[in-house]
Amino acid sequence: MEHKLNYNDLWAYAPAPEDSGHVNIRDRYGLFLNGRFQDADSGKTFETHNPATEVRLSEVAFAGETDVDAAVKAARNAFDKSWNPMPPADRGKYLFRIARMIQERSREFAVAETLDGGKPIKESRDIDIPLAAAHFFYYAGWADKLEHAFPTRAVTPMGVAGQIIPWNFPLLMAAWKIAPALACGNTVVLKPAEATPLTALKLAEVIQDAGLPDGVVNILTGDGSTGAALVNHPGIDKVAFTGSTAVGKLIQNSIAGSHKKATLELGGKAANIILDDAPLNQAVEGIINGIFFNQGHVCCAGSRLLVQEGVADEVIAKLKDRLETLRVGDPMDKNTDIGAINSREQLNTIEGYLKLGQEEGAQIHQPECSLPEKGYWCRPTLFLNATQSHRIVQEEIFGPVLAIQTFRSVDEAIEMANNTPYGLSAGIWTDKGSRIFNLTRRLRAGVVWANTYNQFDPTSPFGGYKESGFGREGGLHGLEPYVNFD
Ligand code: NAP
Ligand code: MG
Repeated sequence: MEHKLNYNDLWAYAPAPEDSGHVNIRDRYGLFLNGRFQDADSGKTFETHNPATEVRLSEVAFAGETDVDAAVKAARNAFDKSWNPMPPADRGKYLFRIARMIQERSREFAVAETLDGGKPIKESRDIDIPLAAAHFFYYAGWADKLEHAFPTRAVTPMGVAGQIIPWNFPLLMAAWKIAPALACGNTVVLKPAEATPLTALKLAEVIQDAGLPDGVVNILTGDGSTGAALVNHPGIDKVAFTGSTAVGKLIQNSIAGSHKKATLELGGKAANIILDDAPLNQAVEGIINGIFFNQGHVCCAGSRLLVQEGVADEVIAKLKDRLETLRVGDPMDKNTDIGAINSREQLNTIEGYLKLGQEEGAQIHQPECSLPEKGYWCRPTLFLNATQSHRIVQEEIFGPVLAIQTFRSVDEAIEMANNTPYGLSAGIWTDKGSRIFNLTRRLRAGVVWANTYNQFDPTSPFGGYKESGFGREGGLHGLEPYVNFD
């Protein structure tokens, strides 16, 4: 019998599944409100699933308007009575304690993140959880040094922050939101995404164990209606939102004319630009990391490749080769590169774009890898011969799909890179520092990586231009949205 060899046969690894036996996921979780886990006022709940197996993981309380009201009141009370009056150095100690406790429970957090969201364990273990702890460590250090952060100005906390986060980096986004808010003396009501509530609830356990005063952090699980109730509650002073541009616009409309301040971290359609003098193997690896990392569920994913004509054929051939060796499948396997798509809805969206791209005239290329039977999966996908007017070039797909275009001159590349409604991030691959500086100055993107991609650090600010939102998170800049300047 003829046996067709492919790369995966040749380079097959034995399965290396991470153990989940040590992780305690409760059968039911309440809302974390005023220091205690409690049922929703209505008694309503919803289920959260593992997108790789479609198995139910837990049942979670669904917060409605009365719960939002109770949480905002608890946060206000904590702001007035405990958190704001507390010496800033003591606030810092609580944040350091949370950071250490996340580190101590990092294995458990990584497994829970992968089970609930479908991302490969090597990412949750090496990226999401360590960075979440690092954010708490970083902002813990600022808590008693705000007069050095803003040397010529007196600052005060804003009060109660309403924070809403998406499903792609659940714990990390919670850390990005909560750590700077608390460091500046604010209290918090946070709403995680419906699809991925578990690590935020585990963070609530950490916050409880760390002994934070009741009501300083409240975590309300629910859906978009819970988020809307939070945004519209008159008792919050600040909205911090990460999610889609469509919901960002709704939020901006609904708080217009109110006293509420906002930061919005929205979608993206980043261009990764390979110039003809780039180290091509390194660039190809960066492109792969840029779009296939976390199944492309990354706001700053390098979802467009702009490659200079002289090296385009070689780059595309190398990309196709590399695609054959990517491992798609069980997110709990330590060798998996591409895990499960986060939900059935998101998979439908991505598949819609796969169809659309072909109808628009782009040429689709996918490797022949097999996919598990249960769960939500998408093969890593290249679209060749994409053009600027294609919707797959203009719109955020939020999946493992790379649209490839070529260019002749640097000016043309810049024009193409800037020609979408978004402006969150970009990447440049070249051997010459002068070209890097030329491009970074002219690219309208909040973050530009050069000869690397998707690198994050709590000390450096992150945020968008244009429809990618406004405000910065991370670094010194990330303190500013959480203080009033007197
Ligand atoms: P989404 O639909 O906008 O949801 C984000 C969050 O908002 C979720 O918690 C969601 O709740 C909640 N929400 C939905 N409708 C709401 C409303 N009317 N009022 C208040 N809150 C509401 O976005 P997503 O699909 O979950 O996440 C993907 C998007 O996030 C992408 O566009 C991506 O680019 C963006 N993102 C941006 C950044 C960044 O830093 N710029 C980082 C990560 C992701 P439910 O999910 O529970 O319904
Ligand atoms: Mg889930």
